[in-house]
Amino acid sequence: MPTLSHSASIIRECAAHYGFNRVQFAAAHPPAGIAEFDQFLAENRHGEMGYLERGREPRANLEQLLPGVQSVVVLGTDYAWPRPPDPGGLTGKVASYAWGRDYHNLIGKRLRKLVRDLRASIETFDAYWTVDTRPVIERAWAQRAGLGFLGKNCLTIVPGETSYLFLATLLVNIDLPPDRPLKDHCGSCRRCLVHCPTDAFTGDGQLDARVCISYLTIEHRGSIPEAIRPKLGRWVFGCDVCQEVCPHNPEDPSSIEPDLAPRPGHAWLDLPWVLNQNDDALEQHFMGSPIRRAKAIGLKRNATIVLGNIGDRAARPALNIALQHPNPVVSAPARWALERC
Ligand code: SF4
Repeated sequence: MPTLSHSASIIRECAAHYGFNRVQFAAAHPPAGIAEFDQFLAENRHGEMGYLERGREPRANLEQLLPGVQSVVVLGTDYAWPRPPDPGGLTGKVASYAWGRDYHNLIGKRLRKLVRDLRASIETFDAYWTVDTRPVIERAWAQRAGLGFLGKNCLTIVPGETSYLFLATLLVNIDLPPDRPLKDHCGSCRRCLVHCPTDAFTGDGQLDARVCISYLTIEHRGSIPEAIRPKLGRWVFGCDVCQEVCPHNPEDPSSIEPDLAPRPGHAWLDLPWVLNQNDDALEQHFMGSPIRRAKAIGLKRNATIVLGNIGDRAARPALNIALQHPNPVVSAPARWALERC
């Protein structure tokens, strides 16, 4: 039977083998981040993300996910690559997490293999893995495990290194030596709060998802209110502003993960091209990319708004095509955009 520290080194070694460049441990009890999560729900700041409400109970009680859970292994993968140069013209900006392969698939596969290997290496070992879509508050566990501190922009930040991180966890049924949480490293800085294009932060570490560009352009399925449309600027999918202005992020990031490198045409979308595709072809094109999450309707809605913000007459033919779209979520902002071009 491996000792506690021996199990810890097996996990660290195996995780590094599967590309997790950050590995930290936390005790599984009491649950991390649940008071803040409850407040977020109570204030209805989750918008239409009803799945967050439905997953409240397992988040508060990890036993429901893994009976006998004792520790949480928090795993980080740095994803930022340098942004490809701005092609200008009628193009829209994509958040950097979405330039490469869909991290849910990539990291999910690695987690499955990691758990398989650990089951083979550590007697009686069992685990439940998560990467973003399962009911575990990953950033709260990352904070408890000292992987990073929670910035005023609500993101996990490794001080002086990066906030461009994909987080994953393993809930495990063994006791691991917990790492210490980090202290706050924001200090008096407020850059993210000041620069947020939509003033989505209602306070330090308080985000109103309903006006966050990432939420609106990716998760939100309806129309985007007219008052917010100009604030999207050129963001057609997601937004990186609160990370770009953060002094903890390097100007020239360097992920070591080739699968997350920018795919051609995925960091800047050709907006007339988006509007000229039929809906099925567009979704098919983004198979295996996080960009698919917005679905064709969301991407076309966003593309019309960004074209309206660019305000170039050259966008009119594509906007006239969008005007004919049977879904008003696309045709209404197309009309709005045509008035600005
Ligand atoms: Fe903290 Fe400043 Fe970074 Fe915002 S921009 S998360 S306030 S360090």
